[in-house]
Amino acid sequence: MTFGDLVLTPLWDGSFKLDGGAMFGVVPKPLWEKRAPADDRNRIRMGLRPLLVQGEKTMLIDAGIGGKMDAKSTDIYAIDRARNIDHSLADAGLSRESVDIVLATHLHFDHAGGFTSRDSAGNLSPAFPRSRYVVRTAEWDDAAHPNERNRASYLKENFVPLADAGVLDLVAGDASIMANVRVVRTGGHTRHHQIVVIESGNETAVFVADLIPTAAHLDEAWIMGYDLYPMETLAFKRAFLREAIEREYLIFFEHDPEIAAGYIREVNGRKQVERVI
Ligand SMILES: [Zn+2]
Repeated sequence: MTFGDLVLTPLWDGSFKLDGGAMFGVVPKPLWEKRAPADDRNRIRMGLRPLLVQGEKTMLIDAGIGGKMDAKSTDIYAIDRARNIDHSLADAGLSRESVDIVLATHLHFDHAGGFTSRDSAGNLSPAFPRSRYVVRTAEWDDAAHPNERNRASYLKENFVPLADAGVLDLVAGDASIMANVRVVRTGGHTRHHQIVVIESGNETAVFVADLIPTAAHLDEAWIMGYDLYPMETLAFKRAFLREAIEREYLIFFEHDPEIAAGYIREVNGRKQVERVI
């Protein structure tokens, strides 16, 4: 879709499944399963939707789960990449070589898995050969020094090879990444999780990553059990939702299985998404 001077294209790196209870934190299953039905292993289906931004440069925000998962993880997470980021780049008339910048919201495997690829000899290299990779400095530090709680989400194979290859740009704070694109720290999900704000003319689009992973997470208290600092998520989300509704931000959902983007509307006190894509 055209968005002011830019073209925004939600890509698709397949789907995966996560435990429904973990995805909705303190919300009881009888409530969440009406919005996100669970399979026989209590998992809900989620999309993997990196966002392509074509403007001053060609930027990719997150890169999906990638193709490096072993058989055990592929089964646990029900990863289905029959259609993946290579197909959706081709649909947009592009390839991996077209991407100038890969921007990370954070370094969990379902966002950074596609940053690197492994060849048949087992060597890891950047998956976007011409690209610089932009990561928030403090998120990098946390990912490189995981603890018992976040170790399973930060897989070194997804990001250490970027530093080794010399294609990593660490950026501190809420910075402009290219014309029309800036990042804003939310904290909450990880200590330095960030969303991406895209502005052109007087329109604003926001890639919200794991702040609001799906359209089923619009209610303030519907916060993932995965979040390290849920009260921080709550505070940011409450203020952000008010702003997004008032100023009619176009919201890009990274994990919704059906809705790639839409406007958040409040109708009779209930928040809902008016789907655009
Ligand atoms: Zn995620």
